[in-house]
Amino acid sequence: MAYTPMIQQYLSIKAQYPDAFLFFRLGDFYEMFFEDAKKASVELEITLTSRDGGQNERIPMCGVPYHAANQYIKVLVEKGYKIAICEQVEDPKSAKGVVKREVIQLITPGTVMDNQSLTPKENNYLTSISAFSDHTFGFSVCDLTTGEVKVTSIASWESVIQELAAYESKEVVVAPSFDETVLDELKQRLSVTVSFEENEEIPDALKKLADAIDQAKMQKSLGRLLQYLVKTQKRSLDHLQPAEFYAVQDYMAIDPNSRRNLELVATMKEKKKFGSLLWLLDKTKTAMGGRKLKQWIEKPLLNQEKINERLSCVESLIDHYFERETVRESLEKVYDLERLVGRVAFGNVNARELIQLKQSLAQVPAVIQALNDIDNDVIKQLAERMDPCADVKEIIEKGIIDDPPISITDGGIIKSGYHEKLDQYRDISQNGKAWIAELEQAERENTGIKSLKIGYNKVFGYYIEVTKANLKYLPEGRYERKQTLANAERFITPELKEKEKLILEAEEKMVDLEYELFQEIRSLIKEHSIRLQELAQLISRIDVLQSFAVVSENNQYTKPVFSDDRTIELKESRHPVVEQVIENNVFVANDLSMDESCDMLLITGPNMGGKSTFMRQVALSAIMAQMGCFVPAEHAVLPIFDQIFTRIGAADDLVSGQSTFMVEMMEAQYALSHATQNSLILLDEIGRGTSTYDGIAIAQAIVEYIHDHISAKTLFSTHYHELTQLEEQLSRLKNVHVTAMEEDGKVVFLHKVLPGQADKSYGIHVAKLASLPDALIDRANVILNDLEGKEEEKTLPIPSHNRISENSEQLAFFANETSNKQERPAADSKEKQIITALKSIDLLAMNPMEAMNELYRLQTLL
Ligand code: ADP
Repeated sequence: MAYTPMIQQYLSIKAQYPDAFLFFRLGDFYEMFFEDAKKASVELEITLTSRDGGQNERIPMCGVPYHAANQYIKVLVEKGYKIAICEQVEDPKSAKGVVKREVIQLITPGTVMDNQSLTPKENNYLTSISAFSDHTFGFSVCDLTTGEVKVTSIASWESVIQELAAYESKEVVVAPSFDETVLDELKQRLSVTVSFEENEEIPDALKKLADAIDQAKMQKSLGRLLQYLVKTQKRSLDHLQPAEFYAVQDYMAIDPNSRRNLELVATMKEKKKFGSLLWLLDKTKTAMGGRKLKQWIEKPLLNQEKINERLSCVESLIDHYFERETVRESLEKVYDLERLVGRVAFGNVNARELIQLKQSLAQVPAVIQALNDIDNDVIKQLAERMDPCADVKEIIEKGIIDDPPISITDGGIIKSGYHEKLDQYRDISQNGKAWIAELEQAERENTGIKSLKIGYNKVFGYYIEVTKANLKYLPEGRYERKQTLANAERFITPELKEKEKLILEAEEKMVDLEYELFQEIRSLIKEHSIRLQELAQLISRIDVLQSFAVVSENNQYTKPVFSDDRTIELKESRHPVVEQVIENNVFVANDLSMDESCDMLLITGPNMGGKSTFMRQVALSAIMAQMGCFVPAEHAVLPIFDQIFTRIGAADDLVSGQSTFMVEMMEAQYALSHATQNSLILLDEIGRGTSTYDGIAIAQAIVEYIHDHISAKTLFSTHYHELTQLEEQLSRLKNVHVTAMEEDGKVVFLHKVLPGQADKSYGIHVAKLASLPDALIDRANVILNDLEGKEEEKTLPIPSHNRISENSEQLAFFANETSNKQERPAADSKEKQIITALKSIDLLAMNPMEAMNELYRLQTLL
């Protein structure tokens, strides 16, 4: 048995969109069938039903109401799905057989335009990659909502990943032949939706967008991106801005792990903006400014001149409080110009949004004036380039009423006086209604029936209604009976019907004409898209700069100075986020000094002492400086870093399912193979993920390698006290330590970073602080005593750079630090001691690696 014609139609359309949910319009619903229905009912938590499809077995079906579709689309898009919107494209009344249907748009994670699915202060980036046989790549990126298009060429796959991460691209378009394992890695690491497009030709209609791109490889990726947009969106893409070339090398490279580690735009644990650097710096007033700020954080600059330009603007905005506040107040009332323009061009803007556009433009003159009052050339130039687009404002002002409805098809949008014909229709409609009101009055008087009234309904039009009790007062002949109700009768008269015809005609024409006029206004505005987009760019820039000024002033940051001999000099430096969220506001500021003669700091000190906070604050200060923001310190000299690498924290390791140690090693490998002399490397507790000796060996080798072969500025924290001796052999390495002291038998962390190595470890005290059982703490002290006793005979198993281990010394524990030598077991009782140690081993509580290590340790004591 064949499927019904409609299901056949469904199947043939669905075959063209195998990887999307097909939203098949049926009356007031979008329906889904077969597998789509089963999957959607689960993902959207809607009821799965079934319908007859012409065969014995019924077809699974589920649907969402047309008017509420956006909220369901949002859910699916957020989960990375695509949705093909299939509409009826002919009037069902005139259709012969099944109504014709077509997919009018493919909505995908990288192309959503609906406000519900977008975050105001975040771009929504679609990217495309073209791969070439010489292992280089063309890379394009576009935010369909704002029209921004950028293109670059990239020399390695790792940099492609970095770019994708920097843009937080939601969807990437590649050739269908793209290596599948590589795509799997992409999906897993960056949770990006992958789409395919074979064609790399720039579509004819969009050729002008590629004017500035002359390199063939970049043209190909741009071609792929635009082809995909044309095919999925099936409508005007006029608001796309000409593709802009950028060089990856112009920005500080930060790999995806480091971005996460440093919590630039989201915290590691909760993946939320709150608590991130972005959260701290965001005092922007507009959505565009918010997006620009995020872009700047993701891509700090390398060009000192450009950085200094931004810094000088921030400085002036701090100095000119009054002007800055005026700008802020005006910006507060500016809507998302950029996305409004996108919607104008895309054809889905409504009248209310045009009023928002008008209100936004109304703010611009005040912004320009305030900026002009600031004594700064860069700011003045910015103000000069700001075009208030008064003519666009005028178009809206003239045409659209101040408080229009959301619907653009029901009239009530266009101002009177805008269009003569419309005014006439309105007159007819209004006069007609007044005439009817008068008629009602006259009829009451003529008949003497006070309760007589004239009403309207869709079926009968205007009618005269008289209650049954009053019927007897109605004169014969003039009134034609139309409808009988329980208590009343409804009548019409020829003159009423004549007037009704005029009114209804006028109203219908009025609504049609209003829609036409609205579209006309929309396309008039669309012609100014480029000017509006430029204005939006300038506004977003000034918004970020004022945000920097506000944060810098409120938190007492300092303007950084850039060194060209790679010197770092931070006085009273703080961690910008921790100092804000820490309880009791007790953040301890620290100094850091690394001149030409010092490339590495080896940081020791107790756990929880503040090592990783210190390291992060240095990286964050560098990033803030290169974004053009002041930095949390009293005085700051920094080099311009080309790249930042970090290996910090362990919380994220489990996500990928790899062992901590493997992740550690991979991140270290990445840093070692990419860092240059101008990079900043942060390595926190490298080697912790493996056994002690392995760990020390690896950690030491890494320190030596960086020192001897890379010479990047490096902060290296470790709890392997042995490594502090490297200071004697490595000329550009210095020891520093975080301090702590004992108070009433407990550890107090001072969080002060001081020169030299730490001389104590506080493990047991930290355990005590964490309220581990007293018996356990006592036992740990006994074991510690015991271990310390063996310390002298212990040698490190690894060959050292310059045999550093000969004097190797385990960190002495706090409480027993002064343990006296007399109490230590004599060398001749060594074997006995080892036997005792062997006996006390709790084998069941150890893993094989620990057991190996313990055996190894005991062996070295012999
Ligand atoms: P470590 O890396 O040495 O284990 P962390 O850097 O993780 O230590 O810091 C531990 C805790 O100490 C953090 O939660 C932070 O709140 C606090 N802390 C770190 N540095 C400071 C500081 N300079 N002033 C005040 N508190 C700090």
